[in-house]
Amino acid sequence: MSSVPVVRVALPTPLRRLFDYRAGPAGDSTIEPGMRIRVPFGRQRLIGIVMETAAASELPDERLKPVLERLDPRPVLDGATLALLGWAADYYHHPIGEVLAAALPKALRLGAAIDATEERWVLTPEGREAHTRGEPRRAPRQRQLLTALASSEASATSGTDPPGLAGADLNEKLDAWRDAAQALIGRGWLTKLEVKPAAAAQIRGPVAVAPGPEANEEQRLAIEKVCDSLGGFGAFVLHGITGSGKTEVYLRVVERALRHGRSALVLVPEIGLTPQLVSRFRERFAVPMAVLHSALTDHERLLAWRDAFSGRARIVLGTRSAVFAPAQDLGVIVVDEEHDTSFKQHEGGFRYSARDLAVVRAHRAGVPVVLGSATPALETLQNVATGRYTRLALTRRAAEAAPPRLSLIDLRSSAVHAGISTPAVQAIERHLGAGGQVLVFLNRRGYAPTLLCTACGWIAPCRDCDARLTVHLSSSRLRCHHCGADSALPERCPQCGFAVKSVGQGTERIEETLAGLFPGIPSIRLDRDVVRRRGDMEEAMRRMSSGEARILVGTQMVTKGHDFPNVTLVVVLNADQGFFSTDFRAPERLAQTIVQVAGRAGRGERAGEVLIQTEFPDHPLLLSLLAEGYDGFARAALTERSQAAWPPFSRLAAVRDSAKTAEAALAFLTEARSAAEGLRGERGSAAWARAVRLLGPAPAAMAKRAGRHHAQLLVESADRAALHRFIDAWLPALESLPSVRRVRWTLDVDPIELF
Ligand code: ADP
Ligand code: ZN
Ligand code: ZN
Repeated sequence: MSSVPVVRVALPTPLRRLFDYRAGPAGDSTIEPGMRIRVPFGRQRLIGIVMETAAASELPDERLKPVLERLDPRPVLDGATLALLGWAADYYHHPIGEVLAAALPKALRLGAAIDATEERWVLTPEGREAHTRGEPRRAPRQRQLLTALASSEASATSGTDPPGLAGADLNEKLDAWRDAAQALIGRGWLTKLEVKPAAAAQIRGPVAVAPGPEANEEQRLAIEKVCDSLGGFGAFVLHGITGSGKTEVYLRVVERALRHGRSALVLVPEIGLTPQLVSRFRERFAVPMAVLHSALTDHERLLAWRDAFSGRARIVLGTRSAVFAPAQDLGVIVVDEEHDTSFKQHEGGFRYSARDLAVVRAHRAGVPVVLGSATPALETLQNVATGRYTRLALTRRAAEAAPPRLSLIDLRSSAVHAGISTPAVQAIERHLGAGGQVLVFLNRRGYAPTLLCTACGWIAPCRDCDARLTVHLSSSRLRCHHCGADSALPERCPQCGFAVKSVGQGTERIEETLAGLFPGIPSIRLDRDVVRRRGDMEEAMRRMSSGEARILVGTQMVTKGHDFPNVTLVVVLNADQGFFSTDFRAPERLAQTIVQVAGRAGRGERAGEVLIQTEFPDHPLLLSLLAEGYDGFARAALTERSQAAWPPFSRLAAVRDSAKTAEAALAFLTEARSAAEGLRGERGSAAWARAVRLLGPAPAAMAKRAGRHHAQLLVESADRAALHRFIDAWLPALESLPSVRRVRWTLDVDPIELF
């Protein structure tokens, strides 16, 4: 046991613990939780975050290493954020050091300053007197420096200028002045200040708000409900069809928070795909806004973070990780398109849900959170059903267009040419003839999903995945959509030399087919192959809204928050992928996609029509969607989930691994399962151990991806607390399994994609 004061530090390592360091020679009381410090760690020096301070450590004195450096003048993470991150580390069972790393921009992790400060060199009264006396006589550089500073004081015009001279100014006036400055500081004639640039110090002025449309009755009710809760927690689900005016509600609620001197945090799935939302916030509010998204450079991200941290930015708008942004005096959180799966981090180790953390953050901060969607997640609707969240409905389109009519095309009984049925072709013809625009949706990019040799049956496979290669005709490539493998498109079968043939449809081929069917009608395609840079999306939008293009062929990308006011017909080419998946969430995704695509139609004066091609026109979930809309679908789907005891009626965690061989991937999870059963045997009487069910292990549906074999083991329980206690007890066992070294593995709490 040591008796010197220590700090407990979270370091960016996969170890699930904090590390003790000696605070300083005399117990540096200036180090506080939330500050970054630099410490020795093995042979490295790491930057960590102080989580706690303590009067003593478990470790003996001689094993305690000292803190090398304190990086921050004040905590970079305040108490509330530290507590939120600590909560997230517990809930997702992830090492705190890596959780903290996810919350900070890279530049800060590498040691950049939290404040954009400027050094100012200022004369002391003694220095001024010394200058008047003409001192120091034998040190010309020091004398020149005093003179420069004294004359700048004499010429200062306004009392609001920062004092003294900036280092940059002195660099211009003098050479090699820094040694002289040190000497003058030693004599007490000069001080150095770190000041914030004027902009950062700017305190909240009045909020300038551009006028918006007058809220309709439903909007007014929603705005009032949320605003009544400003200053206290409340979770609101703003459930409104596309075009019903959700964004307008966000704007009004944010406006109210700003007028109360508070800030707003707005989370969106993908900024590149929703430039409209960003520009509507910019147009409405003349206040500094920090925009955080993945296309920023590290430096841009640091600047945006600093704007939020300093309190300058009153609105922080960003994607997933912005849920950790240091918005000051937070007044409200908005999560737009809350059902979107990109709110769940699905790569790396720390797999958090930004939507769920937004609710936790709002709760801890005592502010309302608004979850907006045309198609709320079933989890979210269940939270409404149990009374945890309040539903606010917008049922009418703000611009008074009627909602679109949905109907099915039975692919088994219709003639189909190149993926498009005759009734669909006729409908397209009719709508184009009436001056409308047409949106054709297919969730598969490329020309064709299969390249086949009709002579020997060879199918172009990916070498590293259990998948076929997709034909990309315009670029003459074969690509794997799972690992990125890319090769030239062969003209002949590599096996027998016969000619090869593209089988099936992707967006590229559909565009070609439509060009053949409707010659002279200009079309555009919207998928990840054509939208690569910022601006591509805007250009496509412009061509659609100007009427320059009449047909739009696109993937999932078209479902994300765009208005196509003159689209009167939407054709969903293949609605069936959602029924064949091993993932119990697939039907929910399908219904959301259909409703979201349908929402693109008829946003102008004319009502829209939506045609859905399917081989399963009798599927009960599809029928409930058609007959009763998303609400009816959700009721039916929740009933199914409840019968099968899937979330939200139970809690899930997935342990996933990958290895060089299928055997190794399964071996680790099989041992993991035995370890879990061991826990149950050992503490058979513990209710939490009995409350957990293990499913698997099983190879992933696509077992081999990018040369590695994937498998998963699910842990399920109706009792959330029991599940977490179980995981707490189980993880140390997993980490010490002998086979752990042969795999890469992750734990995913509340997984949203199963395979
Ligand atoms: P959502 O976010 O639900 O898709 P928006 O807020 O974007 O809906 O509204 C759709 C369109 O209707 C926008 O052009 C918006 O300016 C307009 N709008 C919204 N609310 C009203 C209103 N109360 N009166 C008139 N127009 C409105
Ligand atoms: Zn062949
Ligand atoms: Zn591949």
